Amino acid sequence: MSTQLSFAEQTARAPSSTSLATTIAERSEPFRDCDVTSELAALARAWLERLTPEQSSDFLLSVRQQTRDRGMTTAQVRAVLEVIRRGLRQSRDASGRHVPDGTFTVVFEGGSRRTIRVRTQNPQARFAPGRTCVAYLRGPQNTSDFQGFGFLDDGKLQLWAKYRDSEGADLLIEAVRVLVADPAAAAKAYGLESGRCGICGRELTVPESIEAGIGPVCAQKAGW
Ligand SMILES: [Zn+2]
Repeated sequence: MSTQLSFAEQTARAPSSTSLATTIAERSEPFRDCDVTSELAALARAWLERLTPEQSSDFLLSVRQQTRDRGMTTAQVRAVLEVIRRGLRQSRDASGRHVPDGTFTVVFEGGSRRTIRVRTQNPQARFAPGRTCVAYLRGPQNTSDFQGFGFLDDGKLQLWAKYRDSEGADLLIEAVRVLVADPAAAAKAYGLESGRCGICGRELTVPESIEAGIGPVCAQKAGW
C-alpha cells in the first residue's frame, strides 16, 4: 500500500469525522508502518497544514515544508501521528476519566462519605437536555432525596450558582474531584454499602458481585 500521496490528495482525503481522532487517542502504543492507512496519512497532512508556528516544533515545520510537493513517507506520517497521539492522550488524561451515569459513594480520607448521583438528561428533557447533572444524597442513606448541584462536563464540575457560596460547596467540589479521579472505586463503594449495583440499580445477588460492589455486566461496560 502506497502512502506517498501528493499534498492535494492527502488534503482532499482528510476525514471530517472525529472517529479517527478517537482511534488515535485510544491507541496505547506508537503506530507501526503497517498501521498507516491513507486515511491516517490524510489526517496527518491536514493536521500539519493547520499548525501555526507558535504551536509547532521546528521538526514539524520542516516536515511540512519538505513534504508539501512530494508527500510524506510512511515514517514521516508515523512521526506526525505520534505527536498527535501524545497530544490527544495528554488532554484526555488531564480532563479526567469518564464517569458513567450511576450512583457513587465517595469516601473521604477521614472516612466520611458523600453519595453522588450522576445522570445525563434525556435529549428531549425540558431542563438541560443532553447535559450531565450531578446530585448529592441529603438526609439518611435509606432515602432517595437527591439534590442537584451542578453539571459535569468532561470530568469538570460546573457548580450551579446557588451553591457557589454555600457552606457545603467545598465538600461537593472535593467529592466530585475524588469521583472523577476514580469512578470505579466510588461505584464499588456504593455497591458495598447499599447492596445494589451503582450503575443499573439492580440488587447484587451473586456472592462475587456483592463482594465486588458492582455487577459484572456493568463493570465490563464501564471498562473497569
Ligand atoms: Zn449493574
